[in-house]
Amino acid sequence: MIDSHIHVVPPRLPGVGPMNLTPEGGVAEVVRWLQAEMAASGTEQALAMGCLSTSEDDPLGVATTLEIAAQVPGLFAIGVAHPEHNQPDHLQRVEKQLATGQVKALKGYLGYLHYPPTDAGYRPYYELAEKFKIPFVFHTGDTYSPYAKVRFAHPLLIDDVAVDHPNVRFVLAHVGNPWMMDAAEVVYKNMNVWADLSGLMIGATEDFTAEENADAMADTRAQLARAFRYAERPNRFLYGTDWPLAPMTAYRDFIAASLPEACHEMIFVDNARRLFRL
Ligand SMILES: [Zn+2]
Repeated sequence: MIDSHIHVVPPRLPGVGPMNLTPEGGVAEVVRWLQAEMAASGTEQALAMGCLSTSEDDPLGVATTLEIAAQVPGLFAIGVAHPEHNQPDHLQRVEKQLATGQVKALKGYLGYLHYPPTDAGYRPYYELAEKFKIPFVFHTGDTYSPYAKVRFAHPLLIDDVAVDHPNVRFVLAHVGNPWMMDAAEVVYKNMNVWADLSGLMIGATEDFTAEENADAMADTRAQLARAFRYAERPNRFLYGTDWPLAPMTAYRDFIAASLPEACHEMIFVDNARRLFRL
């Protein structure tokens, strides 16, 4: 099983907290916790987001993610693209890092950063994604920050860049939740757009079985099933959790119960393997 969307470091986005990823035991404790979750849920490979870059020698914010990946077999890094950081020297450093092959995708934080995907600052990153044949993941949908402006995170905005950059493969994180049907339309219409299934429900393991959450969970499952059917592209949905916001085992069961069993192999394994070339 491949988890296409986890976090092992705080993303350093405005208004977003540490997500329990700065424990007293530091990186070693995150490594132990992650390995235990992966083993228990049967997750063999996972892709972990970086954070907003804070230093010149780490232009994609992946230094700590790569440090953790070196200790967790099957863990890979996704670099963070900031549209304001598009100066030639910065992009040169990004290119140098992508050339190492250690970074499996780029990620843009729509909403958290107040730029639409059509912003000129993203364009050089699309060109690099095309050159290195790596997907470009966008946060889409609801945000966990009071400073975010959510209209920038609407999945429909990705249609523009999907059309203008036909050789770049885009991923709509969270199926654009709560705009899942809009996300499904963008997946259906564009051959270069995927969606990840992460973060549709967050909380502790108990929250996934709590009676008071049953209605909300049923709603989310029904919305997801409808969007998945509408898109008619089972080969372009990627399993992901958004761990540690959701526990890996409970989330796996939640997604498995939401989507047709005949598509599980694609969703949980094959689609991500192909897209990220793992
Ligand atoms: Zn996330």
